[in-house]
Amino acid sequence: MELRWIFSFFLLASSLYGHVSGKECTNIPTQLSSHTVRAQLMSTTNQTWKAQMLSYYHLNPTDESAWMDLRPRNLRNKEAPMEEFDWLMLYRSMKGFGGVNMRQQGRNFLDEVSLHDVRLDPDSMYGRAKQTNLEYLLLLDVDRLVWNFRHQAGLPAPGEPYGGWEGPNVELRGHFVGHYMSASAQMWASSHNQTLYEKMSSVVDALCDCQKKVGTGYLSAFPSEFFDRFEAIKSVWAPYYTIHKIMAGLLDQYILASNVKALQMVVGMADYFGNRVKNVILKYSIERHWTSLNEETGGMNDVLYRLYRITNDPKHVVLAHLFDKPCFLGLLAVQADSLSGFHSNTHIPVVIGAQMRYEITGDPLYKEIGAFFMDIVNSSHSYATGGTSVSEFWSDPKRLADTLSTENEESCTTYNMLKVSRNLFRWTKEMAYADYYERTLMNGVLSIQRGREPGVMIYMLPQGPGQSKARSYHGWGTKFDSFWCCYGTGIESFSKLGDSIYFEEKGTTPSLYIIQYISSSFNWRSAGVVLSQKTKSVYSFDPYLQISIRILTNQSTSQSSTVNLRMPSWTSLDGANVTLNDQNLPLPSPGNFLCVARNWTSNDNLTLALPLKLRTEPIKDDRPEYGSLQAVLFGPYLLAGLTSGEWDIKTGNSSSISDWITAVPASYNGQLVSLVQEANGKILVFSNSNGSITMEEWPAEGTNSAVHATFRVIFQDSNRPHSLATKKMKTKTATAQNDAILEPFDLPGMVVAHQGPSNGLAVSTAATADSMFSVVQGLDGRQDTVSLESSSQRGCFVSGGVDYSYSAGAKVRLICSSNSDVAFRRAVSFTPVSGLKQYNPISFVAKGAKQNFVLEPLLSLRDETYTVYFNVGA
Ligand SMILES: [Zn+2]
Repeated sequence: MELRWIFSFFLLASSLYGHVSGKECTNIPTQLSSHTVRAQLMSTTNQTWKAQMLSYYHLNPTDESAWMDLRPRNLRNKEAPMEEFDWLMLYRSMKGFGGVNMRQQGRNFLDEVSLHDVRLDPDSMYGRAKQTNLEYLLLLDVDRLVWNFRHQAGLPAPGEPYGGWEGPNVELRGHFVGHYMSASAQMWASSHNQTLYEKMSSVVDALCDCQKKVGTGYLSAFPSEFFDRFEAIKSVWAPYYTIHKIMAGLLDQYILASNVKALQMVVGMADYFGNRVKNVILKYSIERHWTSLNEETGGMNDVLYRLYRITNDPKHVVLAHLFDKPCFLGLLAVQADSLSGFHSNTHIPVVIGAQMRYEITGDPLYKEIGAFFMDIVNSSHSYATGGTSVSEFWSDPKRLADTLSTENEESCTTYNMLKVSRNLFRWTKEMAYADYYERTLMNGVLSIQRGREPGVMIYMLPQGPGQSKARSYHGWGTKFDSFWCCYGTGIESFSKLGDSIYFEEKGTTPSLYIIQYISSSFNWRSAGVVLSQKTKSVYSFDPYLQISIRILTNQSTSQSSTVNLRMPSWTSLDGANVTLNDQNLPLPSPGNFLCVARNWTSNDNLTLALPLKLRTEPIKDDRPEYGSLQAVLFGPYLLAGLTSGEWDIKTGNSSSISDWITAVPASYNGQLVSLVQEANGKILVFSNSNGSITMEEWPAEGTNSAVHATFRVIFQDSNRPHSLATKKMKTKTATAQNDAILEPFDLPGMVVAHQGPSNGLAVSTAATADSMFSVVQGLDGRQDTVSLESSSQRGCFVSGGVDYSYSAGAKVRLICSSNSDVAFRRAVSFTPVSGLKQYNPISFVAKGAKQNFVLEPLLSLRDETYTVYFNVGA
């Protein structure tokens, strides 16, 4: 572990949270609850630092008084003998139970639809992301996944354990296996891939053997001694966090794949951990139990409420209640934005659990808690992606400008916030939650895979200027040696992409809410129809989201049912159009649902054309000096500008955003070229290296180097075909018709210019005679090469230097030669290939103060450096 990194990490963390007083409701200092810091502590050789960090562990007791009435009342008698601990009595005494008609309460909720009934279009952006994730799930090996569990249970463990946070000495081991069971159940429901079914069933079987062997109900990849430490308020890395993942995984295997054995296993775990919690309360006190909750417990309350919904066993709901961290939920109940300093991903799952408490008990307090929490995160703590947190923590509300860095927006928090907003949408049908869901899924989730590479994901999504997904503290992970928390939530996120497109309202008239426009099909069983939704690819130069929804039914007399179409808040009525079988429908204003009730018949067709507008959105920071920091969005797409740190935009007092941002036309893609030379087994590419032109090694896809090796060749004769295809290059003589300029891909408006014979070439801010080159047939005589002859210095050619033994990094020069030997002719001949970087279909150019920016959706970037927030000045 590089200490430099650790120190810079703490510098960042302490600059944000350096104040002396900390949260009473969490570990102090808060850095200890960071997973990143825990992983460092596990592997550090700096014992002094480790001892110092751990000495702070759980110094502060939980503030009980704020939340007294949430406790089971009969637990207050600390003298009660052990045998009187009665789960059923506790259950009856708890707030919210007994008096509420739960069925009545739940009746108005929208129902989630089964993932078994939704299929994503494999050719869509979402379908490809799902497929990439499926490939990763299939790459993972059952024996390796369960190795630590078998080893722990004393069973033979063939194969090798995985690395990263699943390594056999890492205290968090086993957490990913829980996520794997959830993700594979969701993915199986979404795909019915039989190989995956067999794999996930084998994982459950193997874990079942482990649980049986241990014999107490305990099931974990680490020893139960971790819970002794947890209960003794001693240092241990979030053992209940991992138990939550395993229980949730097993429950998902039961719910989505009907694995009854998995349900029995969760019940066995609930019994075991119920006994542990009971013993802590009886042996010590309820206070001791609450204090222990200062260590992260994930969504223990959530999974236990979900279990209760299936078992109706009062023990499960009481145990769930005992994981409703009262000191945190209490702050939300009194509507205080006290999030700053809390570890985000420890606490969002506690809120999700509280939401389940509302669903089960109907206690409106827990509905309010969820709504207030969502409101403050959304209004004061989230980036334009919808994501939240910096270095895993919340910072001061509406003070995000100085949090912009590499360590923003832990992916797990994005995954969990989506659950919070989804629940709120189901309860309220409020558009703000659907808008949030779309924004965050599209920009926060789709951004975390590295293209189509299975098993390459990120932990943090950097928001600072000139940052890159590849360059945060963790950077991109690897297939088998990362397994960070965010890998676990990542594989779930991409397995359930289809779970929030459609929501159902059951009743006498079946009703469907379509809240996301994602190409997919849905088998709407209660209405007896299948919907096929097709969303056209979006192009920046044709700013409409175009959707068609076709109804298929075999029934001759299907009943009347209602389809509610979301009119997103980001669209406008100006140019919007929705038709049913080619008849225009009257439209509600954006932010509402368009309700279409009908006896649907086969081939009924709805079409939507929703205008996509460019807009800016200020950073969530109420200090006037940061008022100029703005993100740029195109409909739901968050745009990122390709830049290594420059972020100044010049609007020139313009009132319209279209004056300083323009769409990249379709024709530009055909103008993109990379110029290649090959010699002695080396392939070198003509590249912009910080303003001077050099020959560089063939870059990896999705890197800055690929961007810097791509140029737009703009012929001055606009009638001339722009393609550099060699058949267009017949001419060997330089003519005005062949004159072109070369614009670096990421510096629109700038050009490559020579600086006189024998000198290097450089990037220049303005086109002059020295930036004009005639593109002629390659002097080496080959059909597939071109040469660039200077228009201001005829007879002088751009030389990449091949055959002069140049290597990577060599300067590209303007060479004038009269003897024209073979080496010279080869040195000035380049093979044009299509640009190593291509324009995303959604691409724009924004006018900058010092440079212009190419903008494209953040979700499509890989290692390229970018900025999300621009400093927009007049
Ligand atoms: Zn994480």
